[in-house]
Amino acid sequence: MFKNCGSTVKGIALINFWLMVIAGVIVGIWLLSEEGPVGLLVISGAVIGGWLENVALYTIGDTWERVKNIESSVTEKTIDDNDDDDDETDDEYVYTGSGEAIWLCPKCQKENSGEISVCQHCGFHV
Ligand SMILES: [Zn+2]
Repeated sequence: MFKNCGSTVKGIALINFWLMVIAGVIVGIWLLSEEGPVGLLVISGAVIGGWLENVALYTIGDTWERVKNIESSVTEKTIDDNDDDDDETDDEYVYTGSGEAIWLCPKCQKENSGEISVCQHCGFHV
């Protein structure tokens, strides 16, 4: 539901800005014909005010999007790191003097002996 919130907020900011500009221009033109130069103030006020108000909203949406991008790339990297750890477990066999293989469980870090693929302590499948 909130997956694309950043771009939604950015879209709302743009629509909101143009609505304020259009409304300001319409009211400003009407005031120009009725009251004179004060209409120009209303038009410029709507443009500047609309920009200031919505640039803040747009920045929030943009920042939100960037944070989501960083978050997803960090998550992907963590998954990659876990894959590397799995690859390395095959190399973590230690052979004792009698030729017995000892390996460390990647989950509980306890020693297991023999060429088995299930941890004797926590049942973790290697
Ligand atoms: Zn274990």
